[in-house]
Amino acid sequence: MNATALKTEPTPPALQIVDVRHRYGRVQAVDGVSVSVAAGEVVCLLGPSGCGKTTVLRLAAGLEELQDGAISLSGTLVAGNGVEVPPERRGVGLVFQDYALFPHLDVIENVAFGLSGMNATHRRSRAEEVLAMVGMDEYARSYPHELSGGQQQRVALARALAPRPRVVLLDEPYSGLDARLRDRVRDEVLHILKASGSACLMVTHDSEEAMFMADRIAVMRGGRIVQQGTPVELYCEPVDAFVASFFGEVNRIEGQVRAGSVDTPLGSIPARGLAEGAKATVVVRPEGVAIHPWAPVYSDDPSGVVEQARLLGRTSLVHMTVTAPAQSEASVHLHARVPGVYLPKPGARVRIQVDPTQTFVFAN
Ligand code: ATP
Repeated sequence: MNATALKTEPTPPALQIVDVRHRYGRVQAVDGVSVSVAAGEVVCLLGPSGCGKTTVLRLAAGLEELQDGAISLSGTLVAGNGVEVPPERRGVGLVFQDYALFPHLDVIENVAFGLSGMNATHRRSRAEEVLAMVGMDEYARSYPHELSGGQQQRVALARALAPRPRVVLLDEPYSGLDARLRDRVRDEVLHILKASGSACLMVTHDSEEAMFMADRIAVMRGGRIVQQGTPVELYCEPVDAFVASFFGEVNRIEGQVRAGSVDTPLGSIPARGLAEGAKATVVVRPEGVAIHPWAPVYSDDPSGVVEQARLLGRTSLVHMTVTAPAQSEASVHLHARVPGVYLPKPGARVRIQVDPTQTFVFAN
């Protein structure tokens, strides 16, 4: 092999899952999932409860025997085609929902537990190193029951990272934490993962969490991946209404394609690539509805009548009824999410404008 050929040799992904299927009795929990994670990358499996996310993670870990497909770690087959490497020989770090620290071992013993093949001094110094990395070195001699949920979470992560795994698998790792602690811990975890260079496959049903953590997201439904891409791709170019609505509440307006557009009380929305006459759903994100409170409302302008307005913190949510200027019988209930404190009185008529980049049309 010459030098040029060596240079172009692709590095195999740290974790590669190819066309994996899994049944529990009559339930087809996973139905042809393919996803790969490169070294240093965080990929999130995102989807509603029961869509098969945890099963994919358990298959990758070797906690479920693979029924169909293939799983490789850094180019080496670990499951499929008659191969089934046991979990402890896959070199994968696991953090599952319940942390599962050993209650009879203190923190440093918990972290050192998985460090086989090292002498006692090295095990101890590596355990101290990772505990410092997660900010838990002061608690080395504490027992799990003496720690808060967030602290246990960090110890579990330290234990998973201590053997320098090529791959870390995280299953809803922040589900036991309250909102404020979750924000802090996930920020720490992201920095730790990026500093460690491990590949990470994480499961969550929370889109905001997925966007916070992931370089790429795979959205799952009914055992399949419906869309895979960067957070920006998924948010800005969702393939269907399910994916669009998974990234936050949306307004939906049903309609029909006529002359390349769907007529709605918000105006005519272009329906690129959809067949003439097709039934379609227009999806508008509440943050894509701008309100111009001081603009005069002329009869042809899209406008809404405020029903109620609520402050949600950084944004305000305005509920309104929008009626098409030309066809007074058609009206829709619309939510607009506007920055800051904006609480118009019920009954006020306001001019609205829809952001085309936050508006999507899908065939039904
Ligand atoms: P959640 O977010 O609620 O944890 P999930 O997306 O991780 O859900 P899985 O736990 O992978 O989903 O489950 C996928 C499907 O397989 C579900 O219908 C579930 O009921 C079923 N299932 C999971 N584990 C088993 C099992 N051990 N025996 C039988 N059915 C199972």
